[in-house]
Amino acid sequence: MQTELTYLDNASTSWPKAPSVAQAMLEAVQNPVGNPGRGQHRISRHAGEATQCLRESVAKLVNAPSPDRISLSSGSTASLNMALLGLLWLHPQPEGKRPRVVTTVLEHNAVRRPLKHLERDGICEIVEIACSPDGFVDPEEIVAAAADERCVAVAMTMCSNVIGTAQPIEAIGRGLHARAPHVLFIADGAQAMSALPVDVQAMHLDVLAFSGHKAMLGPGGTGGMYVSERAYANNHGVWGPIRPTQFGGTGGTLAGSIEDFNPPEMPGVFEVGTCNAVGRVGLQAALCDPDVPSQSEALAHERRLIGLFIDRFAGDSRVTIYGPNATDRRHGVVSFNIDGYSPQEVSAYLDSEWGIAIRAGLHCAPAAHRALGTLDSGGAVRASPGPFSKEDEMGKLIEAIDRLLNA
Ligand code: PMP
Repeated sequence: MQTELTYLDNASTSWPKAPSVAQAMLEAVQNPVGNPGRGQHRISRHAGEATQCLRESVAKLVNAPSPDRISLSSGSTASLNMALLGLLWLHPQPEGKRPRVVTTVLEHNAVRRPLKHLERDGICEIVEIACSPDGFVDPEEIVAAAADERCVAVAMTMCSNVIGTAQPIEAIGRGLHARAPHVLFIADGAQAMSALPVDVQAMHLDVLAFSGHKAMLGPGGTGGMYVSERAYANNHGVWGPIRPTQFGGTGGTLAGSIEDFNPPEMPGVFEVGTCNAVGRVGLQAALCDPDVPSQSEALAHERRLIGLFIDRFAGDSRVTIYGPNATDRRHGVVSFNIDGYSPQEVSAYLDSEWGIAIRAGLHCAPAAHRALGTLDSGGAVRASPGPFSKEDEMGKLIEAIDRLLNA
């Protein structure tokens, strides 16, 4: 029994975090961190400045035109709900005129469930685009479906959390811009942010939701969304087309507080209630940490590590690896199944006998498993190294699977 932990579950949440996160958060708890926008004293002002620095870092990372277009939240789930419900929920249409949303079979429940709830309540129709056997959607199919005049949005993941396939987001964005300019492009960047190059302008994104706790190497409960000018603007008192779905305290000036409504400006319009200021400090520390490899270095490293696994087992008929064998269209994720064992059995064996943490199951993306043919067999085993994972950790996983195959 090996007890030393080998952590290969970074697609779920990254570990270790960026080296400076723990100290930054400790200091933020030991010293008063303040409540941004809630008070004239220096502590509140510091928290406001820290928040602004974080918006600036995120804006720079994704090439947003302004930090004010970055609205912070607890993560991708919260932001995707805000964007999808804010666009559709408050605009119910009669039968036959219901707005359509084009989405894909690869979606995480953070996209799929808000849409399914809206569909069940008769608020929108969903058009679900299939993927190829190796886990990619076809840009042409997405754009053709979106060109329908009833379509109001394309909502899809940038990168499958099940098999790590990086979707052709830029090609889809360009196609929508040219042939379906009435449609908002809403991207789930939970897996892609800091893992792959993301440029909201080149990709023509209207919303980009992100999580701080995955490849951004920050703490849980942090994240947010980029919102384009055309996805939210206050046009002479008419807010939209994405409207806020949460209302409450925003602090700010006396004149602002007295109002019956949220302040209409981005980003505050989508940020109500006391925020996770300590988490924001941690995420900002991660984004500025000089000891974190660059996005391209981390991607090359993780691709090399999953490549070791794929090279070892791709030719073994007892191991099914999902997605393409070439690693250049994936981020650092490899999913597989072993003949004769359920994913849960493989995971329990890796944990108890080898101290290896990987994820087994449906990864909150049931339709992706239906498409891969793994829904009824308990999903798949997913290994995901991070920027600090070592080659011998992947070697240990390979050895453990080898032993299982030869048991
Ligand atoms: N989308 C995808 C593709 C994800 O992998 C995840 C996290 N598993 C989410 C959305 C949700 O992110 P969060 O839990 O940070 O809200």
